[in-house]
Amino acid sequence: MAKTKVKYICRACGYESLGWLGKCVNCGGFNTFAEETVSVTKTFVKETTRGKIVSLAEVSSDHAARIPTGIAEFDRVLGGGFGLGSITLLGGEPGIGKSTICLQIAKQLAEKNLKTLYISGEESPQQIKLRAERLGTVSENISLLCATNIHEIEKAVREYRPALTIIDSIQTIYHPDIPSAPGSVGQVRESAAWLIRFLKDSNFAAVFVGHVTKEGALAGPKVLEHMVDTVLYFEGERSQNFRIVRGIKNRFGSTNEIGIFDMRAEGLVEVPNASELFIQNNLDIPGTMVTACLEGSRSFLVEIQALAAHSALSLPRRTVTGLDYNRAAIILAVLEKKCGLGLSTQDIFLNVVGGVKVNDTGADLAVALAIASSFRDTVFDKKICAFGELGLGGELRSVSNIEKRLHEAEKLGFETAVIPQSNLKNLQKKYSLEIIAPRTLAEALAKIG
Ligand SMILES: [Zn+2]
Repeated sequence: MAKTKVKYICRACGYESLGWLGKCVNCGGFNTFAEETVSVTKTFVKETTRGKIVSLAEVSSDHAARIPTGIAEFDRVLGGGFGLGSITLLGGEPGIGKSTICLQIAKQLAEKNLKTLYISGEESPQQIKLRAERLGTVSENISLLCATNIHEIEKAVREYRPALTIIDSIQTIYHPDIPSAPGSVGQVRESAAWLIRFLKDSNFAAVFVGHVTKEGALAGPKVLEHMVDTVLYFEGERSQNFRIVRGIKNRFGSTNEIGIFDMRAEGLVEVPNASELFIQNNLDIPGTMVTACLEGSRSFLVEIQALAAHSALSLPRRTVTGLDYNRAAIILAVLEKKCGLGLSTQDIFLNVVGGVKVNDTGADLAVALAIASSFRDTVFDKKICAFGELGLGGELRSVSNIEKRLHEAEKLGFETAVIPQSNLKNLQKKYSLEIIAPRTLAEALAKIG
């Protein structure tokens, strides 16, 4: 047995310290440190069989060696499907739909006669069966195993030889040689490392489900991110119906792709046309503007809402939902300084309709126009949309993939698009949209306000 010693490990990010810390120096989390006993010498270092030199030219880059899930929105995030021997980490808050999507993937594979082994450490076979019945995913090709010991899991996978192994959740799995409790950083990391080693060698694809808990009672999936091939996170509010699966890391394809799903009683339903989900406005009200944001290879329209109301506070309120707060502060400052809008006495509320989060700076212009519209209490033509990044000097900077954005707006029946002048040279084809191309934000307000 290995020598053990006590360490303090951040449950959110896995940062190790010899003493307890109130605030993690790595991820900034408060009260995330827990005392853990770690073994100093790793007792289960595997003799590797991979130490053979091969010429780069001889290495096969067989992209066909993938297992498509048959769910287009999910396959795009994965980059075409699960790679053979690839490990995918699927993180998200409890109840957001991780187990649901796993069963739906298993069902798709079952129809292609591929076996899935669903290993649950949390639910009984009866509970899983109930969910599978509700989702209509009962199949002979899907088998269940309720186990938490890595040796039991390894034995089962070697015997059953599934095309896909789902481990729900990785935080319930334990390695019997590690003294710390299941769900602790040491235990999650070591048992995952063990599973990854044997799954990789045997070329089985696997999904590790990892819970993200706000309280940080369990070691977060973050501690595993560097060990797996693909990291996907579920996003979305539980009160909202739509869910986004976002690729954070992908050794087999591009990151930044997202898949959009609608959560219904029968499971997660793909949303191929996301714009329709996020644009529901048919009202002529001040303070709204539509923009196209870009996520990976897809573009969809979202509606930005702003409310500027006279403030009774000496320090007016700024509430930003779905957008970056600092970005919003810059936009407000530019509106004040370069366009002469007296916003410093106003409470400003900003929201992206539908609860989606927009990280794209191409939404700046739309945010600025929505604020100006609410402040002046004027209504823009509702068939207008705007894209453009705002510079500190009030100038409009070009956005990437302008054609994709315009195409999406055209498809949804928009009649006018406001784009930065510098983007005009990127336009190859004619659009049925009328294009207004100002150089600055002030010019944009003058032209359409
Ligand atoms: Zn941390």
